[in-house]
Amino acid sequence: MPDCLFCKITDNQIPSATVYEDDTVVAFRDVNPQAPLHVLVVPRAHVATLNDLQPEHDALVGAMFRVAAQIAREHGYAERGYRTVFNCNREAGQTVFHIHLHLLAGRGLAWPPG
Ligand code: AMP
Repeated sequence: MPDCLFCKITDNQIPSATVYEDDTVVAFRDVNPQAPLHVLVVPRAHVATLNDLQPEHDALVGAMFRVAAQIAREHGYAERGYRTVFNCNREAGQTVFHIHLHLLAGRGLAWPPG
Protein backbone atom coordinates (compact mmCIF):
# COMPACT_ATOMS: atom_id res chain seq x y z
CA MET A 1 0.00 0.00 0.00
CA PRO A 2 1.87 3.15 -1.17
CA ASP A 3 2.44 5.93 1.35
CA CYS A 4 1.17 3.98 4.32
CA LEU A 5 3.43 4.66 7.30
CA PHE A 6 2.60 1.43 9.09
CA CYS A 7 3.06 -0.67 5.93
CA LYS A 8 6.54 0.85 5.66
CA ILE A 9 7.28 0.07 9.32
CA THR A 10 6.04 -3.53 9.14
CA ASP A 11 8.08 -3.91 5.91
CA ASN A 12 11.23 -2.55 7.64
CA GLN A 13 11.47 0.42 5.26
CA ILE A 14 11.16 2.75 8.28
CA PRO A 15 12.77 1.82 11.62
CA SER A 16 10.77 1.26 14.77
CA ALA A 17 11.39 0.13 18.33
CA THR A 18 10.04 -3.36 17.75
CA VAL A 19 9.07 -5.42 20.79
CA TYR A 20 7.47 -8.38 18.97
CA GLU A 21 6.97 -9.67 15.44
CA ASP A 22 5.71 -12.76 13.69
CA ASP A 23 4.28 -13.60 10.26
CA THR A 24 1.03 -11.78 11.04
CA VAL A 25 1.75 -8.77 13.24
CA VAL A 26 4.49 -6.37 14.30
CA ALA A 27 4.40 -4.58 17.67
CA PHE A 28 6.51 -1.49 18.29
CA ARG A 29 6.72 1.37 20.78
CA ASP A 30 4.62 4.43 20.04
CA VAL A 31 6.85 7.38 19.10
CA ASN A 32 4.71 9.66 21.32
CA PRO A 33 3.98 7.46 24.34
CA GLN A 34 0.93 8.23 26.45
CA ALA A 35 1.87 5.83 29.26
CA PRO A 36 5.08 4.20 30.53
CA LEU A 37 4.30 1.28 28.22
CA HIS A 38 2.67 2.33 24.94
CA VAL A 39 2.95 -0.22 22.17
CA LEU A 40 1.13 -0.44 18.85
CA VAL A 41 0.19 -3.90 17.60
CA VAL A 42 -0.03 -3.65 13.82
CA PRO A 43 -1.02 -6.29 11.25
CA ARG A 44 1.26 -6.78 8.29
CA ALA A 45 -1.85 -6.76 6.09
CA HIS A 46 -3.15 -3.31 5.21
CA VAL A 47 -6.64 -2.63 6.57
CA ALA A 48 -7.42 1.10 6.74
CA THR A 49 -10.00 1.23 9.55
CA LEU A 50 -12.14 -1.07 11.65
CA ASN A 51 -14.93 -0.30 9.17
CA ASP A 52 -12.96 -2.25 6.55
CA LEU A 53 -12.74 -5.50 8.52
CA GLN A 54 -14.06 -8.59 6.77
CA PRO A 55 -14.81 -12.06 8.16
CA GLU A 56 -11.41 -13.16 6.80
CA HIS A 57 -9.78 -10.79 9.32
CA ASP A 58 -11.36 -12.39 12.40
CA ALA A 59 -8.30 -14.49 13.24
CA LEU A 60 -6.02 -11.52 12.61
CA VAL A 61 -7.85 -9.32 15.12
CA GLY A 62 -7.80 -12.15 17.64
CA ALA A 63 -4.05 -12.46 17.17
CA MET A 64 -3.62 -8.72 17.75
CA PHE A 65 -5.33 -8.95 21.16
CA ARG A 66 -3.43 -12.11 22.09
CA VAL A 67 -0.11 -10.45 21.25
CA ALA A 68 -1.07 -7.33 23.23
CA ALA A 69 -1.85 -9.47 26.28
CA GLN A 70 1.45 -11.33 25.86
CA ILE A 71 3.43 -8.07 25.70
CA ALA A 72 1.60 -6.71 28.76
CA ARG A 73 2.40 -9.90 30.64
CA GLU A 74 6.08 -9.83 29.58
CA HIS A 75 6.37 -6.25 30.89
CA GLY A 76 4.78 -7.10 34.23
CA TYR A 77 1.37 -5.52 33.74
CA ALA A 78 -0.91 -8.55 33.51
CA GLU A 79 -2.07 -8.25 37.11
CA ARG A 80 -1.80 -4.46 37.56
CA GLY A 81 -3.86 -3.89 34.44
CA TYR A 82 -3.62 -2.30 31.04
CA ARG A 83 -5.82 -0.89 28.30
CA THR A 84 -6.19 -1.83 24.64
CA VAL A 85 -7.73 0.66 22.21
CA PHE A 86 -8.60 0.85 18.53
CA ASN A 87 -9.37 4.38 17.32
CA CYS A 88 -11.65 4.50 14.30
CA ASN A 89 -11.83 7.61 12.14
CA ARG A 90 -11.73 11.31 12.96
CA GLU A 91 -13.77 11.78 16.12
CA ALA A 92 -11.99 8.88 17.81
CA GLY A 93 -8.61 10.40 16.92
CA GLN A 94 -7.37 7.96 14.28
CA THR A 95 -4.41 9.55 12.52
CA VAL A 96 -2.78 6.55 10.83
CA PHE A 97 -5.14 4.73 8.48
CA HIS A 98 -3.79 1.22 8.93
CA ILE A 99 -5.46 -0.46 11.87
CA HIS A 100 -3.44 -0.72 15.06
CA LEU A 101 -4.20 -1.77 18.60
CA HIS A 102 -2.83 0.58 21.26
CA LEU A 103 -1.53 -1.16 24.40
CA LEU A 104 -1.22 1.28 27.32
CA ALA A 105 0.05 0.41 30.79
CA GLY A 106 2.03 1.68 33.74
CA ARG A 107 -0.24 4.40 35.12
CA GLY A 108 -3.82 4.80 36.24
CA LEU A 109 -5.98 5.23 33.17
CA ALA A 110 -9.10 7.38 33.52
CA TRP A 111 -12.56 6.23 32.58
CA PRO A 112 -14.41 7.41 30.58
CA PRO A 113 -11.54 8.15 28.19
CA GLY A 114 -11.19 11.68 26.81
P1 AMP B 1 -4.00 6.77 16.09
O1 AMP B 1 -4.07 8.23 16.47
O2 AMP B 1 -4.93 5.89 16.86
O3 AMP B 1 -4.14 6.60 14.59
O4 AMP B 1 -2.56 6.29 16.50
C1 AMP B 1 -1.43 6.51 15.72
C2 AMP B 1 -0.25 6.42 16.63
O5 AMP B 1 0.90 6.24 15.85
C3 AMP B 1 -0.03 7.68 17.48
O6 AMP B 1 -0.11 7.34 18.86
C4 AMP B 1 1.37 8.14 17.07
O7 AMP B 1 2.11 8.64 18.14
C5 AMP B 1 1.97 6.87 16.51
N1 AMP B 1 3.03 7.03 15.53
C6 AMP B 1 3.06 7.88 14.48
N2 AMP B 1 4.19 7.70 13.78
C7 AMP B 1 4.89 6.73 14.41
C8 AMP B 1 6.16 6.11 14.19
N3 AMP B 1 6.94 6.44 13.13
N4 AMP B 1 6.58 5.16 15.05
C9 AMP B 1 5.81 4.81 16.10
N5 AMP B 1 4.61 5.36 16.37
C10 AMP B 1 4.16 6.31 15.54
